[in-house]
Amino acid sequence: MSVDPTPSDREPADVRTAGPLQIVRVPAFRDNYLWLLRCAATGTTGVVDPGDAEPVRAALAARGWGLDWILVTHHHWDHVGGVLELKQSHGARVVGAAADADRVPGLDVAVAQDDGFTLGAQQATVHFVPGHTRAHIAYHFADARALFVGDTIFAMGCGRLFEGTPAQLWDAMARLRQLPGDTEVFCAHEYTLSNARFARTVDPDNAALAARAADVQAARDAGRATVPFRLSAEQATNPFMRADDPAIARQVGLAGAPPVQVLGEVRARKDAF
Ligand code: ZN
Ligand code: FE
Repeated sequence: MSVDPTPSDREPADVRTAGPLQIVRVPAFRDNYLWLLRCAATGTTGVVDPGDAEPVRAALAARGWGLDWILVTHHHWDHVGGVLELKQSHGARVVGAAADADRVPGLDVAVAQDDGFTLGAQQATVHFVPGHTRAHIAYHFADARALFVGDTIFAMGCGRLFEGTPAQLWDAMARLRQLPGDTEVFCAHEYTLSNARFARTVDPDNAALAARAADVQAARDAGRATVPFRLSAEQATNPFMRADDPAIARQVGLAGAPPVQVLGEVRARKDAF
């Protein structure tokens, strides 16, 4: 295997240049991805979860873009660390969960389940998806087929349940998995490889999972990012989204148990993996 001296997952990448919503992946810290999004029709620009201001500022400057909106999915430092700096330097307004108004810095627009948000000409719907935190939200741009999930869904995984319950996370998974399969999922961390390894321990006979695990191993060996990914891939391979699959229940010794219980057990096993 040859080692690329500048792995492509460590540089900003224009992952969508065509269509109604341009999207740029901006790596930060060790394994975070921050996302720039720009309405093609109006030039209105946003950033999702700027944990660090510097790489966002650099990526905007390289493209000659301003910054109108900061979209926050949850209050953790690696998602909001750059919010106040970017708000001040670019005059951007901050959108975040009403239920987290005391923890999202500089909040201007408070949103809740089913609220609409408009980035230029692009409409997003807010999904309230507590679990990782008690007020986590996701932004779904239906026309652009883009879903920004923060730390709720990772490729073949999910965020740790720091403040929420398995029941809340199952509710979130059950809602998000109903979105169109061709929706692209933009999550906040490159945790894909370890998630794939774990997923195979609870869903060992899933051929789609085995194939995807091989694909992401090849991508990571080549230094390529594995995010974004299609929601259809999650529907077929993410054990947390498939906690109502009898094969997974059987594999974790909970045949016939409700999906909430299966999800709780799978999450506990992942915590100890
Ligand atoms: Zn988090
Ligand atoms: Fe995070």
